[in-house]
Amino acid sequence: MEKKTHVMCANLVSLYLMKPDNISELLITCGVASLGGLVPDVDLKDSTSDKLFDRLMTSLITIVLMSFLIKYFFDIDLYCKIKEYDIFSYLISVCLFIILAYFGSKSSHRSFTHSILGLFIYTGILFYGFEFNVVIPYFVSHLSHIVLDLFNKKGIALFYPSRFRFSLDLCESNGKVNKFLFILFSILIVLYLVLLGMDIKV
Ligand SMILES: [Zn+2]
Repeated sequence: MEKKTHVMCANLVSLYLMKPDNISELLITCGVASLGGLVPDVDLKDSTSDKLFDRLMTSLITIVLMSFLIKYFFDIDLYCKIKEYDIFSYLISVCLFIILAYFGSKSSHRSFTHSILGLFIYTGILFYGFEFNVVIPYFVSHLSHIVLDLFNKKGIALFYPSRFRFSLDLCESNGKVNKFLFILFSILIVLYLVLLGMDIKV
């Protein structure tokens, strides 16, 4: 699947599970979901995706810095759900996540980052520094990416370090199924956000 399809699927599943009831939670859920939907593909090696790792990590570092600045200047806790305001766990978690994403970018495509092992290691690192409002959307988003890629003809190394690739052999990464799912997920997200918007608090 294309990156945009993964992002839409991740957001849809995360919004459905988390049901954020205020703007801050909505932003956290969508931000983490987008990250979880994209991170597995840091291992892409084609020319259009060479900079995915750089972009993701730049975004992550910018968000972390912005959260500190907003806390310092406006006393607004965007990271209010971090475990007991433990800033060291937060920073260690973010640093380890970046290191692991770098390791993932060096692995072969659809192997470590698309495996059950990778899913639990990436999520476990976030669990060290964040609360469930970050951990759960990340887990389901990363998982949704793995599940969607199972449909791809090229398969994924689901049980890495085993190299055996599992595939349901139903579609290609940018074919008609991908386009259909992207439109479907997008429509469902808009519908869900409209319904959610009735209950959301600013
Ligand atoms: Zn993938």
